[in-house]
Amino acid sequence: MSRSLTGAARVAGVVGAPVRHSLSPLIHNAWISAAGLDAAYVPFSPPESGFAALIEGLRGGAIVGLNVTLPFKEQALALADARSAAAEAAGAANLLLFASDGTIRADNTDGTGLLAAFAEQAPGFDPRAAPVVILGAGGAARGAAAAFVAAGAPEVRILNRTLARAQSLADSLGDHVTALGLDQATGAFADAGAVINATSAGLSGQGGLDVPIKSAPTDCVVMDMVYKPLNTPFLAQAQAEGRRTVDGLAMLIGQAVPSFTAFFGVLPPPGVDVRALALETLGLKERS
Ligand code: NDP
Repeated sequence: MSRSLTGAARVAGVVGAPVRHSLSPLIHNAWISAAGLDAAYVPFSPPESGFAALIEGLRGGAIVGLNVTLPFKEQALALADARSAAAEAAGAANLLLFASDGTIRADNTDGTGLLAAFAEQAPGFDPRAAPVVILGAGGAARGAAAAFVAAGAPEVRILNRTLARAQSLADSLGDHVTALGLDQATGAFADAGAVINATSAGLSGQGGLDVPIKSAPTDCVVMDMVYKPLNTPFLAQAQAEGRRTVDGLAMLIGQAVPSFTAFFGVLPPPGVDVRALALETLGLKERS
């Protein structure tokens, strides 16, 4: 459906460097169009040194808000005047909201998106039932660990190639979070309720992660944040052995839902298959 904007249109967007491959404009504009909103969602790609100037220039409500992606998530948190508990815990913001009084509020919806993806693709999964294992110790792992701690996981185990990075993440998140090396995966997986790949291993063109997922219980849910390819070698192996799996595209769409509501004051309209649109754009097929 084609729309024309009026001078009263609400404008939001996504900022990253690069931002060219972001699926957020596709997702948000599909919802805007279906809801018939007088609104637009646009990409911004400042030079890395220009992020702060862009954000300062938007103070005062010139636009309603921005999603923030790499490499600006930590800087976004630091520039905000107020921060949600989720953003503080994740140490990063993927959402900035600009109020008309000139203040900026930082939030992080990645954890909500992660838990929404589990609810959608592994219904009945209870984060409080068993330890959760997270592979990786970067920004995505930090957000995931914070979300599972908040959701009541009895223990979150961070396994990373560089142990010191896992240790520093665990130290900052409290007693329920422990750090291990990737070579300790067999023991860490043995009683896990969920194993999540939050490393960038498995991205198109890179080798998959070589960890013994077969040592996890068969009712363990296995998730990969990488969504290109959609069925990563890690998920394919877990699935072949009968485990339920959750993909990174469900998380990406899951984090967009609360962002859309924060920008435009309404829920995304039902009946828009943004997953199919994203798969088509990525040149990917739905998982069987
Ligand atoms: P970072 O660059 O901050 O962290 C990368 C992590 O991957 C580090 O822990 C690094 O280990 C590890 N790693 C990289 N290559 C390998 C390898 N070959 N073997 C073992 N470990 C490896 O990235 P982010 O945390 O920001 O993102 C991680 C992934 O999550 C990316 O693929 C990103 O696209 C995806 N993501 C998906 C989202 C979604 O909505 N689906 C949302 C956010 C992120 P080390 O410390 O040793 O270098």
